[in-house]
Amino acid sequence: MKLNKEKFKSDYKRKLLNTFAEEIKDASKLHKYFALGGLVRDYVTSNWVNTTKYYKERGEKQVYYFSMEFLIGRLLVSNLLNLGIRDVCFEGLKDLGIDLNELEEVENDAGLGNGGLGRLAACFLDSMASLGIPGHGCGIRYKYGLFEQKIVDGYQVEIPDNWLREGNVWEIRKENKAVEVKFGGRITSTYENGRLTFIHHDYEAVKAVPYDTPIVGYDKNTVNTLRLWSAEPIDEGFDFSTFSRGDYVKAQAYRASVESISQVLYPDDSNREGKLLRLKQQYFFVSAGLQSIIRSYKKAGFSIKDFHKHNAIHINDTHPSVAVAELMRILLDEELLSWEEAWHITTNSMAYTNHTILAEALEKWPVDMFRELLPRIYMIIEEINRRFCEELSRKYVNQGGKINSMSIIQDGLVKMAHLSIVGSHSVNGVAKLHTEILKHQELSNFYDFYPEKFNNKTNGITHRRWLLKANPKLASLINETIGINWIKAPIELNRLESYKNNKGFQDKVYDIKRQNKIQFSNMVKSKYGISLDPNSIFDVQVKRLHAYKRQMLNVLHIMHLYNQLKENPNLDIVPRTFLFGAKASPSYHLAKQIIKLINSVASKVNSDPQINGKLKVLFLENYSVSLAEKIIPCADVSEQISTASKEASGTGNMKFMMNGAITIATLDGANIEIKDAVGEDNIILFGLKASEVLSYHKYGGYSSWDIYNNDIRVNKLLNQLVDGSLAPSHSEFKNIHESLLMFNDEYFVLKDFDAYVKAQEKIDALYRQKSKWQEMSITNIAHSGIFSSDNTIREYSKGIWGTKEIDNISI
Ligand SMILES: *Cc1c(COP(=O)(O)O)cnc(C)c1O
Repeated sequence: MKLNKEKFKSDYKRKLLNTFAEEIKDASKLHKYFALGGLVRDYVTSNWVNTTKYYKERGEKQVYYFSMEFLIGRLLVSNLLNLGIRDVCFEGLKDLGIDLNELEEVENDAGLGNGGLGRLAACFLDSMASLGIPGHGCGIRYKYGLFEQKIVDGYQVEIPDNWLREGNVWEIRKENKAVEVKFGGRITSTYENGRLTFIHHDYEAVKAVPYDTPIVGYDKNTVNTLRLWSAEPIDEGFDFSTFSRGDYVKAQAYRASVESISQVLYPDDSNREGKLLRLKQQYFFVSAGLQSIIRSYKKAGFSIKDFHKHNAIHINDTHPSVAVAELMRILLDEELLSWEEAWHITTNSMAYTNHTILAEALEKWPVDMFRELLPRIYMIIEEINRRFCEELSRKYVNQGGKINSMSIIQDGLVKMAHLSIVGSHSVNGVAKLHTEILKHQELSNFYDFYPEKFNNKTNGITHRRWLLKANPKLASLINETIGINWIKAPIELNRLESYKNNKGFQDKVYDIKRQNKIQFSNMVKSKYGISLDPNSIFDVQVKRLHAYKRQMLNVLHIMHLYNQLKENPNLDIVPRTFLFGAKASPSYHLAKQIIKLINSVASKVNSDPQINGKLKVLFLENYSVSLAEKIIPCADVSEQISTASKEASGTGNMKFMMNGAITIATLDGANIEIKDAVGEDNIILFGLKASEVLSYHKYGGYSSWDIYNNDIRVNKLLNQLVDGSLAPSHSEFKNIHESLLMFNDEYFVLKDFDAYVKAQEKIDALYRQKSKWQEMSITNIAHSGIFSSDNTIREYSKGIWGTKEIDNISI
């Protein structure tokens, strides 16, 4: 948008005055932030209204991305950048004595996600709007996002994330767009006009109220919508005679039970808990979302029979997969279509992304629970399954075992992945390797039956947030070097390739990394009182804490370096700063022990004068999007060391390479595609291959005891876990010790230890060759463009949704 500094300044002063009746000199930081956010929202509203109208009136095909999680982070600066007014606002505020960077820090992260899956949804929203694709988010407006993590005595402590405390300047409550979602009750059927009709009795109704957030496209007048649903009691749903009888407690209980639906995001990537309420959450937002999509589609005057021609519904993992049955319910029971018509529309609308092969993350619901909570939906799933199994039995004659294993309902469980596959026209994995494993291992039966449904869409990240916003210095240098086209066409970052040996350019890239490290170190110093050495290698592992991600391998290597330095204080290593950030699911005991271990190692290493600045270890609390934006631009080394085959894609890996870090990696997930992009010389690979891991799973043959007994380094390290070296209590790290030995090291930490140590030695040697290292770093930046979510979204749009890119919304 066009905006000059003087206009901005007067707009801003007026907004502050109108909102808070204050002049700048009297306003708090919070008020200054809210005034700015409110003004930015004002700037986008007319484009927002126009965009919505344009899509509707022209019947453009729209995609709705259904996701339990949207890990958006902060919106202020990202919106300013996409509107093209960051610099003018920065300067204008400066004239008024306000620092934009300080206001940015006032905004609470919208932490409505656990990790990669939720962040992917947020990157996709940014890319859809920036490409002009009619695409919206649909999810839950959790009152509490993922818990805030504090580290107390080295332990993780979880604090509720009350992110809405001061209000949310970006959202608009749309009470007039509320819908009703029905739970429980019972179903009867009658014949009405010759049609079998189902009637729902005695259900509990919940009011779903949408809150809309504008999603601003970069340098475009497209403004899409993120619609998040909040659960509220329905006035009529509650018998007020109970209230008048003084049964206040009952009224409160009803209210609390309804509100609990959108109360809190489950702090878990892989569904360890929270069964019934979680199912309620899923149906709640899916039903509300679909009802509102259909209502607005019909209002525009189109035929319900063409629904799939104008609408695509994407289900992000199986969490929203009940959408298959809910769309069927609406088409059958409310729109009175035949089963065949409804099924045609449903399967042509739905597409499903699979995010993991970890068994514990494959959602299954006990039939009893499911049927009681969603009786009509259960009936529909039974019928979908009956027809599906019939179809299977025509192809697989006398193969009951196979049919059973593919059934949607089996052993008293409803299998949501199976429902998603059967009910969608597209099933995609999130990296090449992951998709191959799905096709040939995890879902091979389904792939044989529906080969045409399966496809790969490698994840991506929005380069606007993760480079342009997070690393302004590097972005400016890139602009000076190759111009600004890369912002719209990120693949053009590859023009940096020709500068990789340019000494002047290398020095500038090095210098920017150093400045970022200094800036981050200053923050750490003021927050934790710990000094970091910006001349040391910043070696960073930030991601959720999970055994398969193998933070453990990283810690063992640090302990090993420490042991080596104790034996030989003159050991010649490049000084290293190991930085960690990770939240552990509150119920995941082993993960929490690993956090404690990292902190115990950190205090041991950091307080040992003999180490003489060669090692430093720091666990940063509360890893979140806004922390990621600060830490990633100062990383020299990116730790992507999951057990091969376990990390479906990873997206952290992409953010780091885009900021010039060198990746130390297993051949897992998108690491493989990063390797293909930069070449083997520009990534440090080590460890078991996926095929080897899968083969051990299948045939056995690995014994962690053998390594413990034969490798004296490993022997010493494991003993140190339980001999009081790191904690006064010998049982502090007992579970870790047991997982590695008694339970035979499920994630092959010890198996990969030697290879990892050698890979780290290679890093040390390469870092000493400054020019070589800079060349590698630049090569990584230059080839990161293909990992922009713009490319990913283009592929979804062309290959799955059939949506188009609209250059300019003009009403
Ligand atoms: C990108 C991101 C993730 C995902 O990181 P992985 O390394 O791919 O697991 C998790 N959390 C946050 C806050 C992120 O920004």
